[in-house]
Amino acid sequence: MPRKKTKSKKEQPTVTQLKKKLDAIYSQYIRRKYSDYRGYCSCVTCGVSKHVKHMQCGHYVPRTHLSLRYDERNTFPQCASCNVFQKGRMDEYAIFLINKFGDSILNELNIEKHKITKNFPYEEKIRYYKEKLLDMPDVPEATS
Ligand SMILES: [Zn+2]
Repeated sequence: MPRKKTKSKKEQPTVTQLKKKLDAIYSQYIRRKYSDYRGYCSCVTCGVSKHVKHMQCGHYVPRTHLSLRYDERNTFPQCASCNVFQKGRMDEYAIFLINKFGDSILNELNIEKHKITKNFPYEEKIRYYKEKLLDMPDVPEATS
């Protein structure tokens, strides 16, 4: 009789799947981090205040640079109008960053964006931000 095939190991998630998962958790974390008790946060480039559900996590240095994709100096709440339709409003974003972190920030980010990130610790970061989210107070549902 042929030997029974050993049970295959649970399939490991692909990098694409892990990235997608971390993107979602991290985006939620950034929007919640800056939200008030009503669950509202402000867009860093136009100032509009909306419920976290209607806001996005906007990157200054584009997400294609993995070294800054999940960096809290490079990611802030933005409304869809600024983030998508106005391509991030980079001039206003730069001014916001300089006001928040000082003159050297753009240079720092520019250096860091070229860093090569090998074996990115997706799973570790997913765990880390999941836990951070659990520590945050719940926000009420959006009313509209
Ligand atoms: Zn905006």
